[in-house]
Amino acid sequence: MFEGPLQDLIDEFARLPGVGPKSAQRIAFYLLQTEPEDIDRLRAALAAVRDGVTFCRICNNVSREEVCRICADSGRDKSTVCVVEDAKDIQVIERTGEYTGRYHVLGGALDPLANIGPKDLAIASLLQRIGGVQPDLPDGEIPDITEVILATDPDTEGEATASYIARLLKDFPDLTVSRLASGMPLGGDLEFVDELTLSRALSGRLKL
Ligand SMILES: [Zn+2]
Repeated sequence: MFEGPLQDLIDEFARLPGVGPKSAQRIAFYLLQTEPEDIDRLRAALAAVRDGVTFCRICNNVSREEVCRICADSGRDKSTVCVVEDAKDIQVIERTGEYTGRYHVLGGALDPLANIGPKDLAIASLLQRIGGVQPDLPDGEIPDITEVILATDPDTEGEATASYIARLLKDFPDLTVSRLASGMPLGGDLEFVDELTLSRALSGRLKL
């Protein structure tokens, strides 16, 4: 244990995901030696992420504006929606260059052990979107979604979430529902799947 502010800082870093006590200490000591301008920049970035980031009212992606860059892009295919767990999964799929549709960010996966149920995820808004009843879409837009790709993680929670949503989507008989093809490492996180594998999984997606 260190004294005062240094220990406070270490404790704060240690609370961040993926940062263990040793890394927290290393970052804190690094900052202790860094230039005041660097600290100011970090402080500004932290303040900006709190005040300057919001969630897209259409797809729930993190966004600077009310409607995210992808939803606002009229060049993208509006008829296909790729359902992902987290906004960071969008970056992964975008990197494949394979997908030109839109997204829907659930904000996690069903996980009964962690008390995460359907109401905790953006599932109702997905159904509204598909049903075309989502209010206040950007001017003139008529949502006409014909395909939904379930791209939740290839682990237990992700699979359970995909099956759950697939069942709900049976209410839309004209809708094509697909799941990323096999070849994805089981038990994995979309974030760690390489681009080629993900690209193949997308193009070879299986109709449910
Ligand atoms: Zn959006």
